[in-house]
Amino acid sequence: MAEIYSGVRESKKGRVNDYGGTGKKAEESFRKGCLKKADRSFAQGLQCQQINSMAALMSLEDAVFIAHSPQGCIGCTSLAVDMYRVGQAHRGVKYIKNPHIIVTNLDQKSVIFGGEKKLRDSVNKAIERYDPKLIFVFASCASGVIGDDIDAICADLQKDAEKAIIVPIHCEGFKSKICASGFDAAFIAIEKYILSKEKVAKKDNLVNLFAPVSISYADQKEMERMLGLLGIETNYIPFYSSLEKIRKIPSAAASTSICKVFADEFMKELETVYDIPYSHTVMPIGLRNTDKWFRGIAKVMGKEKEADEIIEKEHERITPLVKKIRDRLQGKRVFICGGTGRSFAAAALIDDFGMELVGLETPTYDDDAQVDIEYLNGIHKDFVVDIANMQPFEQVNLIQKIKPDVFIGVPEWAAKLGLPTTHVLDMKRPTMGYDGLIFLGNKIADQLENPGFNKKLSRHVKLPYKESWYSEDAFKYIVGGEANV
Ligand code: SF4
Repeated sequence: MAEIYSGVRESKKGRVNDYGGTGKKAEESFRKGCLKKADRSFAQGLQCQQINSMAALMSLEDAVFIAHSPQGCIGCTSLAVDMYRVGQAHRGVKYIKNPHIIVTNLDQKSVIFGGEKKLRDSVNKAIERYDPKLIFVFASCASGVIGDDIDAICADLQKDAEKAIIVPIHCEGFKSKICASGFDAAFIAIEKYILSKEKVAKKDNLVNLFAPVSISYADQKEMERMLGLLGIETNYIPFYSSLEKIRKIPSAAASTSICKVFADEFMKELETVYDIPYSHTVMPIGLRNTDKWFRGIAKVMGKEKEADEIIEKEHERITPLVKKIRDRLQGKRVFICGGTGRSFAAAALIDDFGMELVGLETPTYDDDAQVDIEYLNGIHKDFVVDIANMQPFEQVNLIQKIKPDVFIGVPEWAAKLGLPTTHVLDMKRPTMGYDGLIFLGNKIADQLENPGFNKKLSRHVKLPYKESWYSEDAFKYIVGGEANV
């Protein structure tokens, strides 16, 4: 019997999400099978999978998003709301909307008596107020702990819902320490409640391009431009898409994703159920990765020769521009922190500019990461690897010791230490493809040459750690896992 994927990313054999060591040691330990699951005896907050489920779907048209949770759980959605609003502005929308978010407000009473009534009322209010085509119901730790059967409640409400499809999503925060599990939970629900294994007529040149919420409109256009050069029509989903575009998924000739940990499991499911082949390579950031990503989907579509010709022309166009940036960045030491796809892609990108990798922080390590680490170990001297979902206390400790010239990634903490920073999860500006590479490179160089803001910030902001923490071993709270140091 085929294995059914649980949606919990830790359940995959060999995947590790707590590790501290070096690139060389990580590579060697993983190869020998010694990189074991570990834990932290102290942790400083994790990103929860519920926000990833919600953010992945929040820009869908004609939809309502119901968090079956206490109010606090939707605090993080402000980030996705901001991205949605800016994304609309970039797409030329004149009257910018907020997404329709409802929280059922589970409280102490609900924990004792159950939250069913609150969920039923919320779904009914969503229909009454917005008459949507889609209603997503997101589970939370609280609804999971009290055992509210959101599947049964939604199925019952569906009987009376004339227009809306009601989709329960199992993204209870406690289920996974890897926030990308939230993406998987959303796709599992889309397959079960919207696509429902129905076969549709195929379209020869249509490709599903799965994109997470963190992709700017400039990046969307660059990816569509590149696929267009191969004569491919793009079904860009689920970001800024609709029920109709979701229903088009099974008609595609192939699938690919912009991010390594977004829709990767779903693309496997699409291959099994709908015979849709897919390309799962890297995030198209930097020359090497953009080439690899482009060749990957071209191969699946039988257009490798055309891809090689396009790559040659694109390289001719941008190589002089890359050289100019290299002259500004050569030899600078970099610490990188981001999601699994972004950090490895950014690490490859810095090679385009002749920079040196000294530290890498990313949430998970698995056989995909091993391929990237092998590549990075081949071009950089030994660098520190911190496998962590957030954990800024480790990051600032490492930065203080390693003293990089520049930080690329989620910048808040490094900026407060006065380091020049560039956000690699930029949802508003170009990062990807050949044009994104030039924009990002210039942004890194501009930051390095203009560090004044972060320097002033560091003079006025005090991080919440004792001085003694900076001389401790950054990984002292990692317990278990034979290869951990
Ligand atoms: S679902 Fe759980 S982990 Fe996520 S925000 Fe709510 S309480 Fe926190």
